[in-house]
Amino acid sequence: MRRMFVNFWTGVVAGLGKWLGRLMPPCAHIAQALSESLDHPLAPMRWMAVFLHVRMCLLCRRYQRQLRVLRATLRAYAGQLGGTPAVALPTLSSEAKQRLKAAMQRKV
Ligand SMILES: [Zn+2]
Repeated sequence: MRRMFVNFWTGVVAGLGKWLGRLMPPCAHIAQALSESLDHPLAPMRWMAVFLHVRMCLLCRRYQRQLRVLRATLRAYAGQLGGTPAVALPTLSSEAKQRLKAAMQRKV
């Protein structure tokens, strides 16, 4: 009896996964939308599709995280070029710089 119960729910979950998989837009479309979302806000229905997809898709979630890191890094470097930095960049102490320089000279 317990085995039938487990098999039933396993089947329900698998079927639900297949159904959601057919409803979800493909990852290529989501990647494009994630890139566009950096430039301008997405339309509400598209935003919802992206939001749901990213919640369920590990690869798109990673891509979104990478885009965010890339954007923060670029903003920080743009700030170093003259604007106001959005993120404080880590800097090395002068001692650490000297140690690195000495280590590099030993290798050469
Ligand atoms: Zn995806």
